[in-house]
Amino acid sequence: MVGGMTFSIHGLAVARGIAIGRAVLVASSRVDVAHYFIEPAQVEREIERVRRGRDAVVDELHRLQQTISQLGPKDAPHELRALLDVHLMLLQDEEMVGGVKHWIRDRLYNAEWALTTQLEMVARQFDEMEDEYLRERKADLEQITEKVLRAMLGQTTSGLPAGIAATRKTSSAELQLEDTDTPLVLIAHEISPSDMLQFKQGLFAGFVTDVGGKTSHTAIVARSMDIPAVVGARTASQLVRQDDWVIIDGDAGVVIVDPSPIILAEYQYKQRQLDLERSRLGRLLDTPAVTLDGEKVELLANIEMPEDAHAAMKAGAVGVGLFRSEFLFMGRHGHLPDEEEQYRAYCRAVEGMGGLPVTIRTVDIGADKPMDSTVIEGNHLNPALGLRAIRWSLADPSMFLTQLRAILRAAAHGPVKMLIPMLAHLSEIRQTVALVEQARAELQREGLPCGPVLLGAMIEIPAAALTLKTFLKHFDYLSVGTNDLIQYTLAIDRADESVAHLYDPLHPAVLRLLADTIAECRAQGKDVSVCGEMAGDVAMTRLLLGLGLRSFSMHPAQILAVKQEVLRADTNRLQPWAQTVLNADEPSAAMGC
Ligand code: PEP
Ligand code: MG
Repeated sequence: MVGGMTFSIHGLAVARGIAIGRAVLVASSRVDVAHYFIEPAQVEREIERVRRGRDAVVDELHRLQQTISQLGPKDAPHELRALLDVHLMLLQDEEMVGGVKHWIRDRLYNAEWALTTQLEMVARQFDEMEDEYLRERKADLEQITEKVLRAMLGQTTSGLPAGIAATRKTSSAELQLEDTDTPLVLIAHEISPSDMLQFKQGLFAGFVTDVGGKTSHTAIVARSMDIPAVVGARTASQLVRQDDWVIIDGDAGVVIVDPSPIILAEYQYKQRQLDLERSRLGRLLDTPAVTLDGEKVELLANIEMPEDAHAAMKAGAVGVGLFRSEFLFMGRHGHLPDEEEQYRAYCRAVEGMGGLPVTIRTVDIGADKPMDSTVIEGNHLNPALGLRAIRWSLADPSMFLTQLRAILRAAAHGPVKMLIPMLAHLSEIRQTVALVEQARAELQREGLPCGPVLLGAMIEIPAAALTLKTFLKHFDYLSVGTNDLIQYTLAIDRADESVAHLYDPLHPAVLRLLADTIAECRAQGKDVSVCGEMAGDVAMTRLLLGLGLRSFSMHPAQILAVKQEVLRADTNRLQPWAQTVLNADEPSAAMGC
């Protein structure tokens, strides 16, 4: 299993733990490609789909050849004829055809995934060629693969393929692998948040992507899956080959490729230690989160899908502090979920929490969360500063009303709070409040049951943190989205690994805005929580407690570790210490980080 040359790749640590497994490379393609495992019974159908896609392209090229043959050499230069011949040849290439079948038959990859994987394999061989002419044929291969993918997309009508639901456990994919227990780790240049969701079924033991910052949404979804992940690993997807053995150290942000037996043994030992630590934490599940001096602390969950709610409760959450509803809107190829679908989804989350409160954040599409991974929505210069979140919702009030109605209706089934992202302007607040009222009035007129909701605003833009009085006048509670608050305060794109070193939760300006928000809410007797990644970071728990925070919303996997910190904390002592940190030029040094 081991041998060759061990090397390591450094990236950003985003999700804790150690994964050891074989690399599965997911090629990035300009066409929206779904990746999922199929059932063995679907193998022939998938092979047929590729064949039909390929035949359609072959026909197209033949037609083109015929048209060209009727033209003179001036209108149809020799190069064009030659190029068509090359494309036709590549389409029939044994290695391509055989490889695609292999990925479908032996790995149970869906047709598109098989095609892009094989493209990646062959493209690498082209890269290594001495002959420049042949090296350049790679671009042709990419072009025709894309043509075949498009032809295949034309055949399929459904949005998400049914096979997505197949988990590694239920599919018999394992039986077809040489080593049935081998965990698989995913290596990709980039994975869109919606693609990441498709992988949420437990297919992979870890993730590595070339791009992305620590709080990019891809990283957030990886973290919610509670598997080791490294992002911003720059060239990982070029350096790692399909099937390579890989260790992902999610704590250090390191990927070790082709480990030597000694290194492997060391990481297996670490892995066992982490498992032990995890089971020790498990004992805290039913312990109430109360500090040494008796302060009660609320530990809530961040979820992406309604089905996550139940698991969140099982992980010890006393409610959902952030349901990122935009994940219901992604990968839908433009067909947004209607009121009924949203209503049912929100109800599932409410039911999943068994009577505990669920905070539904209205849709936050935009920036690094496009609706579809390859659909470019408008031509935004700076997507993070563009039409995102509430701005997007207010730009299409009827769509927003649909969501508001669905949330209000779900509130008839259990405690629901509504949370609005990215507000900065009083005009936005007014429009939002008016639309919530309108949605309620409509439902009442139609005789549809709806429940009471507390209305909250996210504090994610410095402008909001600096005008808290206005926010507190209109909202029942506030929730600080530190991921964006840091991004916008420091002008650091959270998804850009090249500036990740400047993304600093402990920058004095960030801490000042955060501390003031907590203090102002407490002074006015309004609830405040933090739902950014800071809330789930155990290195921050004491500081946040010291600043007066009593409500934390995080990935369910972090809850027990944060609870352990809470149980060991004495807020009477942390409070003056937090003020020192807050006033320090270098808070991280004052904290002893
Ligand atoms: C945040 O910005 O901190 C937040 C919780 O929202 P999101 O990460 O979805 O932007
Ligand atoms: Mg945000």
